[in-house]
Amino acid sequence: MPDTRRPVLGVEEARERILATVDVLEAERVPVLEASGRVLAEEIAADRDIPPLTNAAMDGYAVRGADVVPAPARLRVLGEVAAGRVSDVRVGPGTAVRIMTGAPIPDGADTVVRFEDTQADGEEVEVLASYSTGKNVRPAGEDVRAGQVVLRAGHVLRPQEIGMLAAVGRTDVTVVRRPRVAILATGDEVVPPDRAPRPGQIRDANSYTVAAQVQSFGGAPLLLGVARDQATSIRAGMRAALDQEADLVITSGGVSVGDFDLVKQVLAAEGEMHFWALNMKPGRPLAFGVLGGVPLLGLPGNPVAAMVSTLLFVRPALLKMQGFTEWSLPTVRARLAQPIERKDGRRHYLRVRLRTTETGREAILTGDQGSGILKSLVDADGLAIIPEDVDHLAAGTAVEVICLPSAPRGITD
Ligand code: AMP
Ligand code: MG
Repeated sequence: MPDTRRPVLGVEEARERILATVDVLEAERVPVLEASGRVLAEEIAADRDIPPLTNAAMDGYAVRGADVVPAPARLRVLGEVAAGRVSDVRVGPGTAVRIMTGAPIPDGADTVVRFEDTQADGEEVEVLASYSTGKNVRPAGEDVRAGQVVLRAGHVLRPQEIGMLAAVGRTDVTVVRRPRVAILATGDEVVPPDRAPRPGQIRDANSYTVAAQVQSFGGAPLLLGVARDQATSIRAGMRAALDQEADLVITSGGVSVGDFDLVKQVLAAEGEMHFWALNMKPGRPLAFGVLGGVPLLGLPGNPVAAMVSTLLFVRPALLKMQGFTEWSLPTVRARLAQPIERKDGRRHYLRVRLRTTETGREAILTGDQGSGILKSLVDADGLAIIPEDVDHLAAGTAVEVICLPSAPRGITD
């Protein structure tokens, strides 16, 4: 059994050690909409000018600038050109062509007069305002030139990049593939959510919390169910994870110092244990190692500890695998609404609700802060970070708060 009194790792050091074992995954080709939010793995160049032809920026009349410098001016209307059409009419001196936004400018014209500045009069139009040459005309290639590199490998594909891919004619694109994350719950008392727990049993919350987190970090979760508190059952679960070609294996429960906490032993026997126990709360009993070349994170069973550990350690690993280079969590400063007392020298992550008052942002504890109180996270907007070296914090002290993904209020609230 590992010695529970030996010095334990700090959060940042543990994260660095986990990150050191993971690399960027290979690329895959996917339809552009499946690439949203992912990291591009190829260079994208424009196949042609965008826009392809010099065109009208406004609905109005295509004219020669020289004809409309002094206003008012009367011009003969030769015809009309809609978006998607190319006019073969030539605009000579004293003439105009009705033109719609996006339609190519006819030969001879160099300026577009807005309808709002004109008065139609039979086959003629009167231009009421003076225009400078070139007004309301968009040159070909003003957005992107043919051959220009519009996106480089490593670029994160947001909606604007997805639109750019479509604009240059891409229907699929090469991006870093999503990590496959096997999730194995452990515990003789843990039953699947569709079962009515008998006395002494509880439903498996962790597989679902963690799977939903994995999805939100861009990974593909594979739920492997619940292993018994027996080495054979845990071993079978870990092997199933490797059979399914997981890029990361996550277990929950069975990593503490109880008589039936066997995850560490099985990991040490089957692979390598890298570290165990962190200087944090919730989430002290976290085991990390490598099994069959695949990193394995043994999360504590308590649901809050499992979720906080996933946020702090699984998220950066999954982001790194997907080619991201930045994984710091968004934080805000807030004043504690109540005093905090504790003496264990650990980094605490307290569940808080954030409220904006006239005097600034305030963090209010969401009730019982036990590691098993999942409701404390359901009610939370953030995790207030209490540093290791602080025993007492008076109400009103400013602390850093990790922002949990926001849950906008629903209509029934
Ligand atoms: P353990 O880490 O196995 O000692 O479990 C710590 C606590 O978390 C115990 O009260 C377990 O019943 C509970 N627990 C373990 N696994 C789960 C799970 N998958 N879902 C909900 N609670 C769990
Ligand atoms: Mg257990």
